[in-house]
Amino acid sequence: MRTPLLAANWKMHKTVPDAVGFVTAFAPRVAAVTDADIVLAPPFTALAAVADACRNSRVAVAGQNLHWASQGAFTGEIGAGMLVDAGATHVILGHSERRQLFGEDDAVVARKTRAAIDAGLTPIVCVGETLDQREAGETLTVLGRQLEGSLAGVTPAEIAALVVAYEPVWAIGTGRTATPDQAQDAHAHIRRRLAEIGGDEAADRCRLLYGGSVKPANAEAIGGQTDVDGALVGGASLDPGSFAEIVDAARRAAL
Ligand code: PEP
Repeated sequence: MRTPLLAANWKMHKTVPDAVGFVTAFAPRVAAVTDADIVLAPPFTALAAVADACRNSRVAVAGQNLHWASQGAFTGEIGAGMLVDAGATHVILGHSERRQLFGEDDAVVARKTRAAIDAGLTPIVCVGETLDQREAGETLTVLGRQLEGSLAGVTPAEIAALVVAYEPVWAIGTGRTATPDQAQDAHAHIRRRLAEIGGDEAADRCRLLYGGSVKPANAEAIGGQTDVDGALVGGASLDPGSFAEIVDAARRAAL
């Protein structure tokens, strides 16, 4: 049985006071939640403050990216050990915005995944097809290629412990959501590919999140699919009430 995981990707939003204010409102709202894992990914500048604010709760904290080197002459970059130092336990890697806007390819994501695991962070590795790729019937091929490339060199035990987020690019920030069936088809394929890469047990234990315009109104239907183990939420995670409703919906779906 996989514990549902709800992760909030705040992207480039929230100052330190905004981020701490979110936790002040959100943490009591989910204080009694023991049947789901919750992760907040603030911008780097708010990581330590959010980790501090979450200290007496079950809410964990993630970076939104990292550099594969532990330190060095990489102006503007942050290493995995620095995320750990700031209180992060997870890190989002290979988000489609990183892939599309900052030129990250699967080989880069693989190096980052290795650095995250070696530092003791849980990677949330994102994959997803563009609208053109979906319309060309290439969705499953693209997902397989991204998974194989992004998880190159990762052991079965490491696959079991990490998280994969399926985020169709056409559904991110667009208000267009994959239907529950589309999400399930993609997730089932991802799990099959994970089994080919790391074996059945690793694939069965690995949590698969859906991401792309998840909202309180659609979270239960999507979360109720067999191979959907939670959600990676952008826009609707910026408001504590809305994200708490998504947590509740995902828990209902897992019953
Ligand atoms: C995301 O960026 O990871 C995301 C899923 O965004 P949104 O929920 O806004 O579509």
